[in-house]
Amino acid sequence: MTLQTPEHDEAHSGALGSRLNWLRAAVLGANDGVVSTAGLVVGVAGATDSRSTLLTAGLAGLLAGSMSMAAGEYVSVSTQRDSEKAALALEKRELATEPQAELQELTELLEGKGLSRALAQEVAEQLTEHDALRAHAEVELGIDPDELTNPWHAAGASFLAFTVGALLPLLAIVLPAAGQRLWITVVAVLAALALCGWTSARLGTAPPGPAMLRNVTGGALAMAVTYVAGTLLGAVGA
Ligand SMILES: [Zn+2]
Repeated sequence: MTLQTPEHDEAHSGALGSRLNWLRAAVLGANDGVVSTAGLVVGVAGATDSRSTLLTAGLAGLLAGSMSMAAGEYVSVSTQRDSEKAALALEKRELATEPQAELQELTELLEGKGLSRALAQEVAEQLTEHDALRAHAEVELGIDPDELTNPWHAAGASFLAFTVGALLPLLAIVLPAAGQRLWITVVAVLAALALCGWTSARLGTAPPGPAMLRNVTGGALAMAVTYVAGTLLGAVGA
């Protein structure tokens, strides 16, 4: 078996890597918006032909979903940011109180990365002289002190991604005539899910076929289940 290592893999580790991560998160967020809103509106369409009911349900689902995604993202990124800040503060204290031990620590970490003792010592000394906190943050903690993720940005991105995804099934169910809306929505949703599956697989350099199949199957299942439930409830209620 050949190991999949595309030439651009090296570039993934820098700014491009974090941009790709954002892109992947955006595709996943949009995917969530498509699936959950499609399940919702197709379920309601099983129970009623009323366009205004469909619009109300779909819009409520869109807002609830996008706000819940944004809130979840805000909480998780804030927590991560807090722990990174705490680690940086501790590091700063240690650098102030025991600079020799910290220099020793940095030297050993660099040695562990494969440098010779003498070279590690020299590199550690120069890095410490230049910007000790940054050196410890990067080598010891693996974080860039200037690039801590902003929780508001993360929340806004999640909100936007989910909303864009949710708009597709919402418009597809509301705009067409009653007799056409169901199949148009199903086709549009499955096509969008195939595209999302393909894109996220390509971004992660995974084979796109299985990702598309899984994604389309999941969405089809969600719509089938809610449609049956909606139809049964509609029959009972009407
Ligand atoms: Zn340290």
